[in-house]
Amino acid sequence: MRTRNAIVVGSGPNGLSAAVTLAQAGLRVTVFEAADSPGGGARSGEVTLPGLVHDLCSAVHPFAAASPFLSSLPLEEFGLKWRFAKLDAAHPLDDGSAALLYRSIAATAAALGPDGPRWRSLFEPLAVRADDLVGDVLGPILRMPSHPLMMLRFGLRAAWPATTLGRYFRHEPARALFAGCAAHIFRPLNRVATSSVGTMMITAGHRYGWPVAEGGSSAITNALAGLLESLGGVVVTGTRVSRLSDLPSHDIAIFDVGPAAFADIAGGKLAPRRSRAYRRFRYGAAAFKLDLAVRGGIPWSAEHVGQAGTVHLGGSAAEIAAAERLVGRGIMPERPFVLVAQQHVADPGRAVGDICPVYAYAHVPHGHREDATAAIVGQIERFAPGFTGRILRVHASSPGDFERGNPNYVGGDIVGGSNTLRGLVGRPVIARDNYATSIPGVYLCSSSTPPGAGTHGMCGHLAARSALAHLR
Ligand SMILES: Cc1cc2nc3c(=O)[nH]c(=O)nc-3n(C[C@H](O)[C@H](O)[C@H](O)COP(=O)(O)OP(=O)(O)OC[C@H]3O[C@@H](n4cnc5c(N)ncnc54)[C@H](O)[C@@H]3O)c2cc1C
Repeated sequence: MRTRNAIVVGSGPNGLSAAVTLAQAGLRVTVFEAADSPGGGARSGEVTLPGLVHDLCSAVHPFAAASPFLSSLPLEEFGLKWRFAKLDAAHPLDDGSAALLYRSIAATAAALGPDGPRWRSLFEPLAVRADDLVGDVLGPILRMPSHPLMMLRFGLRAAWPATTLGRYFRHEPARALFAGCAAHIFRPLNRVATSSVGTMMITAGHRYGWPVAEGGSSAITNALAGLLESLGGVVVTGTRVSRLSDLPSHDIAIFDVGPAAFADIAGGKLAPRRSRAYRRFRYGAAAFKLDLAVRGGIPWSAEHVGQAGTVHLGGSAAEIAAAERLVGRGIMPERPFVLVAQQHVADPGRAVGDICPVYAYAHVPHGHREDATAAIVGQIERFAPGFTGRILRVHASSPGDFERGNPNYVGGDIVGGSNTLRGLVGRPVIARDNYATSIPGVYLCSSSTPPGAGTHGMCGHLAARSALAHLR
């Protein structure tokens, strides 16, 4: 029988996961990537000082560690090594204290004091069965789950607005810790189902941890590309695909691109109704990111924060909710929610002598054009007085820079489309197969498909499985 040919357009974690899945099934796979290097949203580079490696997009990888697909691959043989900080996350508060998220749920509960039992009752039932849960949560929601009872338990937490579920806790540290995790959804936290992403991140943290990749996030996509090559696949960089008709002959084509971009590429080949739906796909809030070279790391006021891989900044739960509400309305808050990653804490090789790479991004309105550097530095300085004096070099990436570097980040939205209820249950469209495009043999696999953003590769893997079922 002749070998079937597959083309994958885009080499982000999802494109490469699709390519590996197809190559494992015996197809001859070629990946076309517009950028000069593969990796999409999982890349690293030296953008401040020579030798100092910064994660240019993704930094911390609970969903990759939880991914049933990535876990099934021998990625260690291709150079991927997860590194864990002592603390997954910390959330400093204005009184000089900090809420702490450990991998151990018992240690987290003990550190939260009077809210500890509530933290356990909310997340322990999910964390102990996380291996069952991830297969259902990291995929399309509108299908029969393999573990319905676990999905129901998850849904009973995930469906709440984060502001409501957060009130289950009685004291500020637990409320703020939950709000910081929930804010990863990039939506106003008083909206329905905004507890979903935070609940999943906390559950994944308690079961798998929040690791960084040794040497930089590009180790994830380099390992996927290395595995793909070992299976006979090829990655061609510096090649942007603008029209479907530009592709060499193929049995399957899978696009790691946004829905509207795909509608442009497909042109008249796409059913008009589907084309309209893809063009109407909604994007959400954006990120403004700083990569900083910092002498001696960040001088946090609160104890233990220096041992955390991730630090959430924004103060109380109410303050974070207010900031996210403004961002949702297109207004830049004075004190935005800021996520800081200190990769060198888990992976000391990232530091050069006493100079540490610091990663920080703020949530800003979609397409925001103003410089948010001062707001981000101000939030760090608020919880770490003296920080500014330690900065040696700053590299800023605006929402526009993200979109110019990767057309998938429309308006600087780094999560591949707004996480509204509709976006959570049926992205990019509500359909029996979210990956099929209406063109036979042509599929979408970017983070605008289920299960959405993150370096888990599950969108790619599931799109490829859908394509293979079509071939059969
Ligand atoms: C600043 C930032 C921080 C993030 N932090 C985290 C984090 O800490 N943890 C986490 O899990 N996730 C994080 N993410 C999200 C994560 O990076 C994405 O969800 C993930 O990369 C999506 O993978 P993907 O394969 O769908 O798309 P992408 O990674 O965006 O890759 C798409 C690829 O397709 C290429 N492409 C697009 N159009 C074409 C075309 N026409 N022709 C050829 N090639 C094309 C692009 O150049 C790109 O390489 C972050 C993202 C950003 C930007």
